[in-house]
Amino acid sequence: MHELSIANAILKTIEAECRARGGLRPRRAGLRIGELSSVNAESLRFALTAATRDTPFAELELAIESCSPRRLCRACGAHYVGGLLSACPRCACSSADLLGGDELEITYLEVEDETCRT
Ligand SMILES: [Zn+2]
Repeated sequence: MHELSIANAILKTIEAECRARGGLRPRRAGLRIGELSSVNAESLRFALTAATRDTPFAELELAIESCSPRRLCRACGAHYVGGLLSACPRCACSSADLLGGDELEITYLEVEDETCRT
């Protein structure tokens, strides 16, 4: 399963980040998934839940944000939101550079508050 290996890679990143901050537990992580990234947000959430069960990350909350592809028209320079086959809304040219929409990244990570430690 594609999403499971992605989930493991994400957890490894979060784990390293927490270790770098002195072993704090992660509370909440934000993920941004581009609509063109071929990652299904629900499958990824499911895989992450399965991968964190019975681990110190079991209570990790995920905020998954999906992000539309953004394009830059090569003919007129217009910025617009659209998929691979969409044409520029200003000049109808279909040659455009992709500026985003295929990303898969951790946008933020909240760790437990040290003052709340027991
Ligand atoms: Zn254009």
